[in-house]
Amino acid sequence: MLAPPIYQDLFLIGGGHAHVQVLNMWAMQPIPGVRLTLISPQAKAPYSGMLPGLISGHYQEHDVHVDLARLCQYAGARFIQAEVERVDLEKKQCIIQQRAALGFDTISFNTGITPGFSVPGAEINSVAVKPIAEFYPRWLGIKDRLLTRDTACNIGVAGGGAAGIELILAMQHALKDSVKIHHFHLFQKGLGLPENYPSAFQKKLAAVFKSRAIKVHKGSAITQIDEIVSADGKRNLKIHLSDSQEKSDAEFSEIFWCTQAAAPAWPKKSGLACDAEGFIQVNHALQSTSHKFVFAAGDVARQEHENTPRAGVFAVRQASTLFKNLQACLLHKPLRTFKPQAHFLRLLACGDQSAIACKPGTGMPSLQGHWVWRWKNSIDQKFMAMFDHRAKPIMPKLGTSASYTQTVNPIISGEKTGSQSSDNNTMRCGGCGAKVGADVLSRVIRQLQPFERSDVLLGLHTPDDASAITVAPGNVLLQSVDVFRALIDDPFLLGEIAVNHALSDLFAMNAQAHSALAIVTLPFAGEAIVERDLFQIMSGALKVLNDNQCTLMGGHTSEGAEMSLGFSVNGLARAEQISRKNTPRVGDKLILTKALGTGVLFAAHNQLQADGQWVKEATDSMLQSNRVSAEILHRHSLSACTDVTGFGLAGHLLEMLAQDTSSESVLGAHITLNQLPLLSGAIQCLAKGLSSTLHTQNARNEEKFVLANHQQEDAKWLRELLFDPQTSGGLLAAVSPDEAFNCLKELKQSGFQSAAIIGEIVEGSKTQIELF
Ligand SMILES: Cc1cc2nc3c(=O)[nH]c(=O)nc-3n(C[C@H](O)[C@H](O)[C@H](O)COP(=O)(O)OP(=O)(O)OC[C@H]3O[C@@H](n4cnc5c(N)ncnc54)[C@H](O)[C@@H]3O)c2cc1C
Repeated sequence: MLAPPIYQDLFLIGGGHAHVQVLNMWAMQPIPGVRLTLISPQAKAPYSGMLPGLISGHYQEHDVHVDLARLCQYAGARFIQAEVERVDLEKKQCIIQQRAALGFDTISFNTGITPGFSVPGAEINSVAVKPIAEFYPRWLGIKDRLLTRDTACNIGVAGGGAAGIELILAMQHALKDSVKIHHFHLFQKGLGLPENYPSAFQKKLAAVFKSRAIKVHKGSAITQIDEIVSADGKRNLKIHLSDSQEKSDAEFSEIFWCTQAAAPAWPKKSGLACDAEGFIQVNHALQSTSHKFVFAAGDVARQEHENTPRAGVFAVRQASTLFKNLQACLLHKPLRTFKPQAHFLRLLACGDQSAIACKPGTGMPSLQGHWVWRWKNSIDQKFMAMFDHRAKPIMPKLGTSASYTQTVNPIISGEKTGSQSSDNNTMRCGGCGAKVGADVLSRVIRQLQPFERSDVLLGLHTPDDASAITVAPGNVLLQSVDVFRALIDDPFLLGEIAVNHALSDLFAMNAQAHSALAIVTLPFAGEAIVERDLFQIMSGALKVLNDNQCTLMGGHTSEGAEMSLGFSVNGLARAEQISRKNTPRVGDKLILTKALGTGVLFAAHNQLQADGQWVKEATDSMLQSNRVSAEILHRHSLSACTDVTGFGLAGHLLEMLAQDTSSESVLGAHITLNQLPLLSGAIQCLAKGLSSTLHTQNARNEEKFVLANHQQEDAKWLRELLFDPQTSGGLLAAVSPDEAFNCLKELKQSGFQSAAIIGEIVEGSKTQIELF
């Protein structure tokens, strides 16, 4: 059965505490015809409640992070890894640097806050704890630096709120046995520590600070931070304090900035109604008071008539109302009210697996001990367990209808709501009736600016039944075509990858990219969605085509059950320059320019078995063009070159060894398995029994690959990787042994960090590849 067409785009911006739960809820109850997209700069979102435990060393990084790529895959949502710069509320577009603006219908923000650097020197000389996602990698760097320091130092934390307190206690615990520290200092502007907590709680905390020799400076705010560099080049920090009694002569190696945070600048710049401090103003339903299609939750939002503190617990509680109201808004139903909890349990971790708890306003006494930490830990672990989807069934993509949902979208059911186009006909035509409409096409084409070449006589902006190019005398025209199903959600990146993949054939043969025709299939959708998708795909594609001075001349765009994309590409070369794939010399070294594993990693991603970080690394590898690596390889004495794609390294290597029938010699190859460059996670995924659908067919060549040594078991998964189909894979070249090492050095210097010499061409009695 065909999935219902998509009619609306719902965007979630930021993987904050509310949105991660909205994604979980959407997985259980999507709306047919609505496509959900998460945009986040990071592939994993930290859970703030457990961050101090991570710093203390009680958790591993993956324990306290939600894998956003996997969560989206589970929820049937698209994941776009990017930072939204601002929103064009009139055009309903998210503006993101270095890519085409993304259109939406309804949008929700859960983007947190930015550090409130209010004093001179703080921004450059201190370490902001917010945003948390950026803090943790910085902390790891600082820890390494402190571990190698030979003199004792002071460490300061500005801000005595719950976050600053947990942070200083966690750092003290983490460093107490390994780093020479004079003192940890906590600077608190007010007199309460923490402010507005019961006095019994504050007393218990004061005793903890005393027992851990942490110096507390109450009523003493940092007013300036100066950098001082000693004669031997050591950098330290000096601070100025608001309290003259407490003048500090101490020098600090680090100051952590944990004071009240500020609102990001973009909500106000975008024209959203904001409170006096710049936080997005929302009503009782978490809906923007200025724009009905905008919602916001968590620290970035300020609810009218409420004075909610900025804490993750509120974002967590808002999730259910936010989810229901986003659905209600899309379905034109009444919105619900969110009432923030009047009292909430405060659990403050002391770094050493003990904690202090209170619930102001309820009469609950302040509690302390290791058992309180175990209590906190069980609450936190339960929260994080909601996002471990590795063993769960996957929800269908793109908000498709399925038996698990009862939600009816009036737009699809034919009950018109007025806001969307009326093309709600799920019976789709075939033949030329499946083409994307001329209006959509011309609107998209008008926005594209392909690279112009004088030898393209008829192209995109001089349309005719066919394109026309002139080929200068002495040049030959090379042609190639590649089309594949979408393997990633982000249409812009898909456009970039598809062009890279197609152009690799030309680069392998030492040709210049010249021109291209696009072959696009878009999933059935309303006109506005088709236009958005086509614009994204073609903008991504054009970015790479233009970088390669390759003219987009035209193409064919149709609708189908799923998105696919490809390019027919033309290249130019002088006949004598062309290099072939099946002409390697005996003794030449085999160089592979990119790491292997895209096939198995995306198969694993589809089954929720891949880490978001692995998927990101694989995507980055596919985004790397082979043009520069081809130029480098061809500058050295090269006897054969090909690009590694669907048949895997094994298939393409065999093609390289399959000389034409006129050749008398028979070639083989020696491959050193532990020299194969690998994408992170590829071997783990193969060892779990995962593989791409083409893997089995590629592995039919298995008998031609002989393991030469005894480490059969260790080598098993590396050998399997030879059959893994690659998308936008690397180039495989046979290079003279005299030049191979210099060639490799140049490749690495030019950004091909994974490039490796993986073996050599040998003479054989039959085509056989020995694996060492
Ligand atoms: C050390 C520490 C401990 C804490 N402990 C607790 C605790 O125990 N309990 C508690 O309730 N609170 C705690 N807090 C407070 C808590 O961190 C915040 O209140 C909470 O993180 C706010 O959550 P949020 O959902 O609003 O956004 P966040 O968790 O801040 O998430 C926002 C997300 O949006 C993304 N984003 C930002 N800008 C953009 C953009 N332009 N485009 C796309 N994405 C964007 C960010 O990368 C981030 O992933 C602690 C804070 C700290 C510093």
